[in-house]
Amino acid sequence: MNTPPQVLTRCVVVGGGPAGMMAGYLLARAGVDVVVLEKHADFFRDFRGDTIHPSTLEVMHELGLLDEFLKLPHQELPRLRGVINGHYVSIADFSRLPTQCKFIGFMPQWDFLNFFAAKAKELPSFALHMEHEVVDLLLENERVVGVRAKSPKGAGDIYADLVIGADGRHAITHERAGFEIQELGVPIDVLWMRISKRAGDPEQMLGFFRHGKLLVLLDRGDYFQVGFVIPKGGLDEIKKRGLPALHRDIVEIGPFLQDRITELDDWEKIKLLTVQINRLKKWCREGLLCIGDNAHAMSPAGGVGINLALQDAVATANLLAAKLKHGAVSLDDLEKVQARREWPTRLIQAMQAFIHRNVVTGRESNSKDALPFLIRLLQWFPALQSLPARFVGIGPRPEHIQSPAIH
Ligand SMILES: Cc1cc2nc3c(=O)[nH]c(=O)nc-3n(C[C@H](O)[C@H](O)[C@H](O)COP(=O)(O)OP(=O)(O)OC[C@H]3O[C@@H](n4cnc5c(N)ncnc54)[C@H](O)[C@@H]3O)c2cc1C
Repeated sequence: MNTPPQVLTRCVVVGGGPAGMMAGYLLARAGVDVVVLEKHADFFRDFRGDTIHPSTLEVMHELGLLDEFLKLPHQELPRLRGVINGHYVSIADFSRLPTQCKFIGFMPQWDFLNFFAAKAKELPSFALHMEHEVVDLLLENERVVGVRAKSPKGAGDIYADLVIGADGRHAITHERAGFEIQELGVPIDVLWMRISKRAGDPEQMLGFFRHGKLLVLLDRGDYFQVGFVIPKGGLDEIKKRGLPALHRDIVEIGPFLQDRITELDDWEKIKLLTVQINRLKKWCREGLLCIGDNAHAMSPAGGVGINLALQDAVATANLLAAKLKHGAVSLDDLEKVQARREWPTRLIQAMQAFIHRNVVTGRESNSKDALPFLIRLLQWFPALQSLPARFVGIGPRPEHIQSPAIH
């Protein structure tokens, strides 16, 4: 039998999403030899969020990358606004945040990842291998010592002192490690589709909310990426009612889409996103650490998943980079990452679960057209809008760059 070719490195990162690319970049910047493996051939995928939070932009500033990053095409939203039961309202005001950037940035995630990939490739201890899918963990005496990956050129083994599993919600790393998952249970799914943009359309906002239903529009230049919340498992029922009924449901919430809703003329154009909120009980074992959506799958609510994934990566580098440069890190070191990042995760997931159970359910509620009391309060006292801005824009326990910059 042929033995697969072997590579030795200090750290192998599985997954080139926000968590993996940021962790790879920061560790390489600290002089750690890192190999990032990404199963796709490029970063161009629809099923991604587009938000870049003030705390992420703060991290970019700390890394000296902010000015260059902001030259990429993006939109800046100093306020999050939405339409609730027909009323235009402002919900969060970022203009008073104690951060360099007092706005949420909107940028397609592939641009963000391409930017980081280009920056990371300038570092001598960084390597990114696209089209490398990890298919197994390598174990020796219960310790994870590397991964087996397959690429168009065949299979290969990569041995490392540390494997970082940043391979998202359906991670092979946590599955093969036998980690237990705690599901929080979400009563919604999302239909994900594209509709063209026209002159005079409303500018980027949080979304259109009406009696328990939510329509989110991400402005991607010449089209909107549209998310329409439905009750979990409700797609078959929606298909039975037919496309015209779905068109009516969408237009009822976003009337300005009336003139182009028939662009959705085939179920092929409508993808189902199964929303999950869960987290691993243990994020690590000897030789393996899981971060980002792998450790805690987030719902799109509040658009905080990318930020949380990046914050995990920053904490990982802060806590591990200096030690990892010289050798393996202990289980105790890895557990410190979980201990630091677990409570912000729990807090945000609790908020998301509350929203899905009580506010955005995907089912027609019999709420009146009046605004909910909390939203009215935010309109009466606009200064209060800095509170949601802080929670969403910075989040609990924001991380700052403390890992060394050798390169
Ligand atoms: C439709 C949708 C909309 C969203 N909208 C927003 C939003 O607006 N704002 C926001 O903050 N969050 C949003 N989220 C959540 C956000 O996208 C995630 O929380 C975030 O991407 C998590 O980053 P990550 O790096 O941990 O994982 P991911 O982004 O999932 O990245 C994992 C990477 O690992 C790769 N991979 C997987 N398995 C393997 C393997 N075996 N071998 C090699 N590579 C592998 C994948 O290809 C992927 O590139 C949204 C999520 C969805 C699904």
